[in-house]
Amino acid sequence: MYNETILVVEDDIPIKNFICYTLNAGGYKTMESGTGQGALSMLITESIDIMLLDLGLPDIDGMEVIKKVRQWSEMPIIVISARDQDKEKALALDTGADDYLTKPFSATELMARLRVAIRHFYKMNIKNQQTVFQVGSLCMDLEKHAVTLENKEIHVTPMEYNLLSLFMKNMGKVLTTHYILKEVWGANYGTDTQALRALMAGLRRKIEKNPAKPRYIITEIGVGYRMTDE
Ligand code: CA
Repeated sequence: MYNETILVVEDDIPIKNFICYTLNAGGYKTMESGTGQGALSMLITESIDIMLLDLGLPDIDGMEVIKKVRQWSEMPIIVISARDQDKEKALALDTGADDYLTKPFSATELMARLRVAIRHFYKMNIKNQQTVFQVGSLCMDLEKHAVTLENKEIHVTPMEYNLLSLFMKNMGKVLTTHYILKEVWGANYGTDTQALRALMAGLRRKIEKNPAKPRYIITEIGVGYRMTDE
């Protein structure tokens, strides 16, 4: 059994029931709200650890809920969004959501996203001290400034290094194009998604066996990229 209480904010009753059933079966406690206002008041009065938030609510926009919550809490927020709403997903992530699920999603997907969110939340305080990251046979040592693949050192450019370390520090989490540009290009970041694509292609050629079918950094179409955490 886990101790986390998850608030499920969703006005579509079959979907809400499916989520709560899955979470309860997985050992989580759940609370429910069908509106944004209801969710906000529950967050103030109840002890809630994680929120699953539908963006299309009958009263206030899910985006408004994220903005409000972020004024006082760093709690993990996973948004639930309809397919073909990539812009909305990216905006939700940039507003402060941690991840998203696209309808329809499976129980397996739901539990996987939740595990990543929880892990991130508990790691937040120690994250900045971690210097060695590993996924599969790809390893990055920030102290030694070294990247190895199958125990062989590979040479990356400074920009590729920055890009890879950003993903390593956010393993399992989707990063929006906007966020990556800001973090890797710094203060003078633009909207040059072409430059990011070129940088990503270069990095993939070095770390992926088959850059056309990446194993480590996956493209999240219309939103950004995600480094796998397994
Ligand atoms: Ca809805």
